[in-house]
Amino acid sequence: MTITKKHVFSLLIILIIALGTISIASAYTGTGFTHDIPFSKYRDVSNSKILNKYDDTECHVEKTGVCTNVVDGDTIYLDSGEKVRFVGVNTPERGVEGYIASKNFVQKFCLNKKVGLDVDDSKHNDKYGRTLAVVIVDGKNLNEMLLKEGLAEVMYIPPSEFYPYHWANDSTHIPTSQHTYANTHSDSSSSSSDSGSYIGNSNSGKFHKSTCKWGQKTADHNRVYFKSRDLAVSQGYIPCKVCNP
Ligand SMILES: [Zn+2]
Repeated sequence: MTITKKHVFSLLIILIIALGTISIASAYTGTGFTHDIPFSKYRDVSNSKILNKYDDTECHVEKTGVCTNVVDGDTIYLDSGEKVRFVGVNTPERGVEGYIASKNFVQKFCLNKKVGLDVDDSKHNDKYGRTLAVVIVDGKNLNEMLLKEGLAEVMYIPPSEFYPYHWANDSTHIPTSQHTYANTHSDSSSSSSDSGSYIGNSNSGKFHKSTCKWGQKTADHNRVYFKSRDLAVSQGYIPCKVCNP
């Protein structure tokens, strides 16, 4: 067989498609976020019972569509063919713990139903062409619900019209900050690891070691750092029973 220009051209096209697919598949996979909420948790709970726990959102429905497919806990398709990425949040990727629970939750509220979108005015689309939006069901912000149920972590990528930390509560996963990360990894070897070694929660009044998962879950706007245990105690903070700081 002789290799013609046509063959080379075909190979190039295949290569381009393959590379494109790989780059799309790797979108937002960097955080490795997981949670351990059982996928059956919401199976026997009615939608209205869950929705009633939440306040009506201040977000505005700018357009509506029927959800035809739920890809995972933060990505859906509408009947228009539009692919929507829930703005400000990130749920577990396919194949890792928590993926099914988060996906089931979104299916419960969206699949084959009419949903509203409040598109991010600061950035309409991500680089993969997905619409960045708050998804609104029965007047409630589903992005916020995912965070408050612990099914998603905050993923704040400015510029954005929305500040997802405002949707967080004590169950919300907050990605470990660079600050905490640095301390976590210097504890064993460095004597200067005292700097900011404790995380206080101004909302609960508790404080944690920087390595404690409950400390790391503390929402940014409630977060206080202490250099020493004594300092935290002197300000009235109570030690966490899990990490015993
Ligand atoms: Zn703790």
